[in-house]
Amino acid sequence: MVNAIARDEKFGKKIGFDLDGVIVDHTKAKISFLKDHGFVLSEKEVQGDIIEKLIPEEVGHAMKQFLYDDSHGSLLSPLTYGAEEVLHEVHESHVPYFLISRRKNPEAAIKLLKARGIWPMYFNESNTFFVLSKEDKNMKAKELEISHYIDDEPSVLDKLIDIEHRFLFDPRGAFTLLQEYRRIESWPEFTKVVLV
Ligand SMILES: [Mg+2]
Repeated sequence: MVNAIARDEKFGKKIGFDLDGVIVDHTKAKISFLKDHGFVLSEKEVQGDIIEKLIPEEVGHAMKQFLYDDSHGSLLSPLTYGAEEVLHEVHESHVPYFLISRRKNPEAAIKLLKARGIWPMYFNESNTFFVLSKEDKNMKAKELEISHYIDDEPSVLDKLIDIEHRFLFDPRGAFTLLQEYRRIESWPEFTKVVLV
């Protein structure tokens, strides 16, 4: 254990997680909301950076309000498959880790994480940060000296210019043609690539 800590400090590895689409999976809630509003989209089509091109802006706003602010909607989504296990492993590894989210309503986000059993066990006030823009995310990640960041939106990774290792979480294979970032299709894959 001591050796593991010394090794991690030596290499200065610090992991940053995005929340929506990475720790929390809104795929089913998005599909169902959109169906109720007259749009039939697939699992791949409702992923961030893709969905915006397929639905009117006002529908996108209404969907986000439902997912992030509505007292019922904001508590619907499950954790992504394997998220709890990877958080456990990262926690046990003693590699410092953080959550940086652009949620505008942190209270609703924290309420969901509490309901899913990962707040305050894995994420809490000491390692969770809410920022406004994609650029702010880069600033915060740089300030925290994060070395590895995982996000589900290529447009966010594009802004994380000060992070050495950027990973695209893509469990539904929505970005198979994308070359810019290392795609991660499952949490066990992330563990294998980052925690070694
Ligand atoms: Mg996201």
